[in-house]
Amino acid sequence: MLTPNLSYANLKESYLFHHIAEKTGAYLESHPGAHLYRMGIGDVSLPLAPAVIEALHRAVDDQAVKESFHGYMPECGAPFLREAVAGYYAKRGVRLSPDEVFVSSGASDELGDILDLFDRKNRALIMEPAYPAYVDANIMAGREILHLSSGPENQFLPLPEDGLEADLVYLCSPNNPTGAAYGRDQLSRWVAWANARGALILFDAAYEAFIAEDLPHSIFEIPGARTCAIEICSLSKTAGFTGTRLGYTVIPKELERGGLSLNAMWVRNRTTKTNGISYILQRGGAAVFTEEGQRQVRENIRVYRENARCLMRALDQAGIRYWGGRNAPYIWMRCPEGMGSWDFFDLLLREIQVVGTPGAGFGACGEDFFRFSTFGDPADTREAAARMLRLLKK
Ligand code: PLP
Repeated sequence: MLTPNLSYANLKESYLFHHIAEKTGAYLESHPGAHLYRMGIGDVSLPLAPAVIEALHRAVDDQAVKESFHGYMPECGAPFLREAVAGYYAKRGVRLSPDEVFVSSGASDELGDILDLFDRKNRALIMEPAYPAYVDANIMAGREILHLSSGPENQFLPLPEDGLEADLVYLCSPNNPTGAAYGRDQLSRWVAWANARGALILFDAAYEAFIAEDLPHSIFEIPGARTCAIEICSLSKTAGFTGTRLGYTVIPKELERGGLSLNAMWVRNRTTKTNGISYILQRGGAAVFTEEGQRQVRENIRVYRENARCLMRALDQAGIRYWGGRNAPYIWMRCPEGMGSWDFFDLLLREIQVVGTPGAGFGACGEDFFRFSTFGDPADTREAAARMLRLLKK
C-alpha cells in the first residue's frame, strides 16, 4: 500500500487568513453595508504598469503569427529576461552572468521547490516572526527546524551568535511581517558565519524594491556571498505580478557543496521538472526592467510608500511603538497595553472597522504585535489612519 509523506501530519493548521475572513464575514453579516478598511493581506491593489500591459499584448500578438510564434521556452528562462534581470543587478554594482539567473513563476513556488537541492538531514534555521511558508515547506520536507527569534531587543534583525549551528538559514530583508531591513555590516556577519561552516543562506528579496535608505537590496552586494547564498525574488510586490506570476532566483556559479555545483543542479532540476515559463509572461516581466517600466513601477511603489508614511504619522502621534514602514510595505506595531494580537484585531474591527493581521500568525514571538499592510487603497488608508489615531490616543 502507498505510504504518503507522513511529514504532512506535522503541519499546524494554517488558519490565519481563514480566521480573519471568518471574523470579517461575521462582522459584515451583523452590520450590513458597513465599509471595512482592509490593511491585512499583503496583496497589491494597483494594476500592472502600462509598459507591462503593452508588452503582454504584443506578446499575445506574436503568438498569433507563425514567424513570431514561440513554443516551449528554455526551462531556466528566456535569454532576454535573464539578461534584463542581470542588467538590473548591474545597476547596483552586482555582476551576474545571465545563466546565474533562473526565471520562476514566483517566490513561493521557488521557496518550496529549491528544497529539492538539499538533503533532508540539513537543519533549517528560520528567523521568527517569518513568512509562514518557510516553516511549512521545511516541515513538508521532513527537515528539522531551528527557530531564531527576533524582537525589539535586536530590532527584529537577529544576528549569528557564538555557537549557532545550522545548515540552511532563511533571511528575508526587508522582512515580512516586521518590515525590518538588514544593513551591510549585519549581512556581512551572516555571510561570514555561513562561509565559515559551509552553511547556505536562502535570501528572500521579495521586498527589495521598497528599500528607501542606503541598505543592501541583494545579498550579492555583500563580499563573499557568491559562495554561500541563493537569492529568491519576485515581481509580485515590485511590479504588481501577484496574480500574473513571475519571479527569479539567482544561483552563482561558484556555489558548491559536496563537490556539486548548485547552479548545475538547479539547471538539471528545472530541465526535468518544468517546461519553462510562458513566453507572454516573460515578455511582460522584461518590460518591468526597461527605463519606462522602472519609472512606472516606482510610481506605484511611491503610492504604497505614501500609505506607509500616513500610517506611521498616526502611530507616531498616538505614541505607539512600531517597526518597518520606511523600507518595507509592512508596519509592525506593538499591541497596546499588553493586549494579545487577536484581541487587538477584534478591537480594531469592532470599534473602527479596520482590518489588519495579528502577529501571532507569524510565529510565537509575534503574539504581542500586529501587522499593517500598506498595499491598500490610499483613501482607505488615510481614513484608517485617522480612525486609529482617534482610537489609540484615547
Ligand atoms: N516571500 C515573502 C517574504 C512574501 O511575503 C511573499 C508573499 O507575500 C512571497 C515570498 C511570495 O511571493 P510570490 O507572489 O512571488 O509567490
